[in-house]
Order: sequence, then structure tokens, then C-alpha cells
Amino acid sequence: MKLALELAKKGLGSVEPNPAVGCIIIKNNKIIGTGFHKKFGSAHAEINALKSCKKSPAGATMYITLEPCCHLGKTPPCTNAIIKAGIKKVVAAVGDPTGKVGGKGFKILKKAGIEVETGICQKEAEKLNAPFFKFAKTKKQWVIVKWAQSKDGFLARTDGKRWLSNSASRKDVQKIRKKTQAILVGINTVIEDNPKLTVRPDNGRQPLRVVLGSKSKWPKNCYLSKTAKKWPVCVFNGRNLNDVLIKLGKKTIQQVLVEGGQKVITSFLKQNLADEIIVYTSNEKLGSKGKVKSSQIMMKNYNRLKKNYSSKKSFGKDIRLTGLRTNHQ
Ligand SMILES: [Zn+2]
Repeated sequence: MKLALELAKKGLGSVEPNPAVGCIIIKNNKIIGTGFHKKFGSAHAEINALKSCKKSPAGATMYITLEPCCHLGKTPPCTNAIIKAGIKKVVAAVGDPTGKVGGKGFKILKKAGIEVETGICQKEAEKLNAPFFKFAKTKKQWVIVKWAQSKDGFLARTDGKRWLSNSASRKDVQKIRKKTQAILVGINTVIEDNPKLTVRPDNGRQPLRVVLGSKSKWPKNCYLSKTAKKWPVCVFNGRNLNDVLIKLGKKTIQQVLVEGGQKVITSFLKQNLADEIIVYTSNEKLGSKGKVKSSQIMMKNYNRLKKNYSSKKSFGKDIRLTGLRTNHQ
């Protein structure tokens, strides 16, 4: 199952809003097939594993990180394929929490005489697809709050240079953006930075670009306006973040990346809406070249993150700390 989880991870960033799933097929104590869900809309892990089998999977045991689907989605149901292949036993890490499956996959397999075992590495499997599980259970999305700061806590600079973080960090941000279905900023970020808010290079699936703030302040000819026909932009006038999230949830947006600026990030933190916090800190002290400091609650969260992060990674001289809200309680 651990190997299946490792395989599943390879799909992160390409399969969302689907869950990342991995699958291993074992016969006579040997792995005869492996597969994972590679891309949204493409074949599921089970199908890829069955296809990869070097010998007949009849009588084999299948390890899957999630309950197999039993509905006709973008691809035919996996339960059919598993039954047809003659799999003898299915070991799944965790049940699929969505209404479309929700235990029905296991039932169909059992009815067909296949032995089913669940709960192996369940915690790891739930963690791997935490946004998917949260959304399925609560209809609320996974909110990632991300910011970059200088060593002395500034969020912007006055010396004409655009960035605080280095190019390796910014490349990493593109990876995070790839997983999400929406990127959210405040109107001031649009006015001051004229951001693109896209995934680069364009992989054909761009997140919805969401801006909070008054339309009357909207800057003419900004990049978002120029590209709005190609990649939609959604502007919310209201200040109630919960309402905004509910509206985005109705668009089946499962993960939102909040990119700032200070005011918007502070609101999300104050209202306790962040599931995950990611902070890039550069090695540079800006001093008098600094503009806009991290707010008190941002600093508080950053200090907590330093003591209790779930991952720490260096990008050149920049350091990225990632933490989950559950770590903070
Ligand atoms: Zn499936």
C-alpha cells in the first residue's frame, strides 16, 4: 500500500479536482502490475495497473489507495474492469467519501465474490488527498494561504524590483497553482502588481482567477482584463469570505490558493479559514527598501510555522515552510 501511495503522489498537480490514486497488483507474492491516475479525465489507477500486467491478473490481489469507482464518469466504472479481470481480492486504503461511490464500489465487488479489505494506511491515504476528502465531507474547499516575505518581514519593495522571492521559489509556486482550481487576490494586488495569476507553462487547465474588492477600483487594461476571455476572472464585491467560498464551492472548486496581499491574507487568517499555510522567506533584509510589512497575525502564524512545520524546503537562499492548520491547534 505504501508503494501504491507513492505512485498516487505522481498524479498530484495533474488530476485535481479528482483524487490522486495509486494501484498495485500482486500475484504469487510478486508485483505483476502498477498504475496511477495520471491526469484529470484520463484512465483511473486501477485500469492503468490492469493494463500494465505482465501476466493474467486473474486470481491476483489489488492494492488501491481509494475505493474503486462504480459510476460512469469521464471513464467507465473501475469495478466492472476489476470483476472482468478476475481479481480475487481488493485491498483499499480508504472508502470514497463522495455520494457517487460512498461504499457502493465495495458492495459491487463483494457481490461479485471478491474479497474486500479496507483501512490499510488509511490516515496516509486521507492526508494525500486532504482537499478531496474535506470537500466531499463538508462541501467546503481546501484553502491554501501563501505569501512571500523578506527576511525582515516585508511583503513588497520600493526599489523597483518586482519580486521578493527567487526564480526557483516562483517555479515552485507554479506547482502549487497547478493543483488548485482558483487563485484569489485582493483588488490592491491587481492595481499594484498587475499579476497574471495563471499556471505557466499553460497546460490547458487554468485556475479561475478570483479578485476580492470593488469593481469601481478595477484598473483599465490590466493583464486580467486583457486575458479574461481566454481565462475567466471572477470579481467579488462582498467582504464575507465565507460567502465567497460557498459560491466557489458551487463551481466545484475544491482548492483555493490565496495569494494576497496583506489585507486579504490577514482576513483569511483572522477568520480561521486557512487549511494550509505556505511562506517563502528570502535571505534579504529590505530595511528602508521595504514596503508593507506582514500583519501581526501573519507574523504569529509564521512564528508558529517555524516551530511546527509539516515541510521545510530550500530554494536557493529562499526557505519555504508549509504547515497545516491541524498542526496549529
Ligand atoms: Zn475508477
